[in-house]
Amino acid sequence: MHLLNCNFDPVTYDDVFQRARQSLSDGKRGHFTTVNVAILMAMRTNPRLRRFIDQSLLTVADGQPIVWLSRLLGSSLPQRVTGVDLIEGLCRAAAETNSSVYFLGSKSEVVRQMVEQIRQQIPDLVVAGFHDGYFPDSDVANRVGEIRESGAALLFVGLGAPKQEAFIEDHWENLGVRLAIPIGGAFDMLTGEKKRAPIWMQTHGLEWLWRLKLEPKRLAGRYFSTGASFVFHAAIALWNCRFNSKLKTTI
Ligand code: UDP
Repeated sequence: MHLLNCNFDPVTYDDVFQRARQSLSDGKRGHFTTVNVAILMAMRTNPRLRRFIDQSLLTVADGQPIVWLSRLLGSSLPQRVTGVDLIEGLCRAAAETNSSVYFLGSKSEVVRQMVEQIRQQIPDLVVAGFHDGYFPDSDVANRVGEIRESGAALLFVGLGAPKQEAFIEDHWENLGVRLAIPIGGAFDMLTGEKKRAPIWMQTHGLEWLWRLKLEPKRLAGRYFSTGASFVFHAAIALWNCRFNSKLKTTI
């Protein structure tokens, strides 16, 4: 479904896991993307990010306001699908298809804890490797080489947008993985490094307020500009939708 400037796939978590099993076994190699409001707005001014998302095997809506807008526009997305809540299920899909996983991103102690946690949850999972996301440009080739040599089939990249998307795109041929997923700050949330918003805030589209409370200096500017921009573009889309349907009924 086309929403603002992005083609979203109307999928549930189970659909995503099913598609991952396909990609990891014999399906097409590529990447999935989880698009939140900030990324949706960044796509308007960042053609490279937009191209990366347009080329995704699967694009999911990682934002309650995006799901609400889809309903108001008349063809609803079934649910919000967050990167954080995808990790465990995708790792289970990897274990079921005998595929190994590589985790790249976040601080060293966070990614290490992430790996320990997931190994406890899924003892069958083969973790091909992991590395923190704070490496210099001069070390990029080593990171890419290590991922390739690890033989990982599934790669999570948590470097923040748009750095993580650029990493996957720039090195796609050399990474050798079957499926890659930019995951933002998901490792921080899963390990409790950053506390996640209560469920009621997540389902009421208020997660941004929670994160703003935790990191006001870093996020205030970002949320103000992306929030205002989303409301503006959503209002235009709604206006166009209502106007066009009125026009159709009067013709
Ligand atoms: N990060 C990283 N290397 C960098 C910059 C960021 O590994 O050079 C990590 C950071 O530790 C965090 C994630 O990337 O885990 C980005 O988090 P953020 O909350 O900005 O991402 P979002 O989920 O908002 O896209």
